[in-house]
Amino acid sequence: MSEPTRILLEEHEIPTHWYNIAADLSTPPAPPLGPDGKPIDPSAMAAIFPEPILEQEMSRERWIAIPEAVRETYAIWRPSPLMRAVRLERRLGTPAKIFFKYEGVSPAGSHKPNSAVPQAYYNRQVGIKRLTTETGAGQWGSSIAFAGQMLGLEVRVYMVRVSYQQKPQRRVLMETWGAEVHASPSPLTETGRRILATEPDHPGSLGIAISEAVEEAASRPDTNYTLGSVLNHVLLHQSLIGLEAKKQFEKIGLYPDVIFGPCGGGSSFGGIAFPFLADKFAGERRAAGLRCVAVEPESCPSLTKGTYAYDYGDASGFTPLMRMYTLGHDFVPPGIHAGGLRYHGASPLVSQLVHEGQVEALAVPQRATFEAGIQFARAEGIIPAPESCHAIRAVIDEALRCKETGEPKVLLFNLTGHGHFDMSAYERYLRGELEDYTLPDELLAEALRTLPSVG
Ligand SMILES: *Cc1c(COP(=O)(O)O)cnc(C)c1O
Repeated sequence: MSEPTRILLEEHEIPTHWYNIAADLSTPPAPPLGPDGKPIDPSAMAAIFPEPILEQEMSRERWIAIPEAVRETYAIWRPSPLMRAVRLERRLGTPAKIFFKYEGVSPAGSHKPNSAVPQAYYNRQVGIKRLTTETGAGQWGSSIAFAGQMLGLEVRVYMVRVSYQQKPQRRVLMETWGAEVHASPSPLTETGRRILATEPDHPGSLGIAISEAVEEAASRPDTNYTLGSVLNHVLLHQSLIGLEAKKQFEKIGLYPDVIFGPCGGGSSFGGIAFPFLADKFAGERRAAGLRCVAVEPESCPSLTKGTYAYDYGDASGFTPLMRMYTLGHDFVPPGIHAGGLRYHGASPLVSQLVHEGQVEALAVPQRATFEAGIQFARAEGIIPAPESCHAIRAVIDEALRCKETGEPKVLLFNLTGHGHFDMSAYERYLRGELEDYTLPDELLAEALRTLPSVG
């Protein structure tokens, strides 16, 4: 073998610090606002988040030390491998080199434990005993269940009732790690009881599940709430992905020309792209031509068709207002299979960089993503999560353009998770039952009418 296909790091090479891109932005990040349009005081959120997390949320320090106990837990699966998709390159006949950072090696099967572990750690540090969260398909819920078990916290997950009934596997995964999982709306909270009183068979929604998890955390001093994407501290934790990838590229003397990542809330995209963007901001020559592309579903196109404005982070309007690309907090995306990409907004940090032209955004249709995912699975053996298939679609298209132009570009994408719990989506694709869904403009306009008028 002349060139390496699997670039590994040693355990001691797990980064010692996370990278905070807020330190390097040309304009300071827009502050979160309260419903009155005034910047919120972080202490307003102290009932549901621990102090160290709130500090990270607001921090403009470039490097933030990773606690030793967190690095030790990361060592269960990190550093994750950087792999070269040589078989896919050959099948495509491209001169491009295709690399991927494989985050599916974590116990929960995705990048999400990268943030679940430090969130559990900081909560335990301030004496919190229990964590709550909401989950739709179950990826964040299972990550926090795993992290809670590793760090000795109880976890209660409010799982959207339809998913609870239709997707038992991730529920059992959470229960296996010791978490309590409840179908939402549940009789355990005011919010849940109020809904069940009028509609006992309510199917639930992510908005309702968030409200239940937040209500419980706010009403119990021993309990806090956790969120798996969107917020600055989550992107900070995910910077691990890009920091490791940079070391891995240094080992083989290469540097990516284009980075692709799927983008839902934006945490894994920020995680892989920001440490490379740091080189560009620092004026490093190797990064001068770097392009970073966030790939989203055509059916939930917040970055490509949304408006850059202040909006609520959740459907019920409980969260502070954040400046981001949004389809409107009332927007209900169609039931596509990439559950992790069905979010009406996007991380404020990713949004700002798209707005400033530092990051590109691209929307792809559902069927083309599964086609790409299956092409990848048949070439490389690994079955990607439907979310990751979005980045694979984009990378394959770029590799085919390289074939036309003869450019031997170095391409990197984030393989954010494996698809072992998503076989029913693959089954539907293989049977020809999956559809593309492009959003009608009227629907977009309608959802945006509910944008709060602040900021
Ligand atoms: C949750 C998830 C995503 C999307 O979330 P981001 O915060 O945008 O990273 C992507 N891929 C997988 C496998 C996920 O579980």
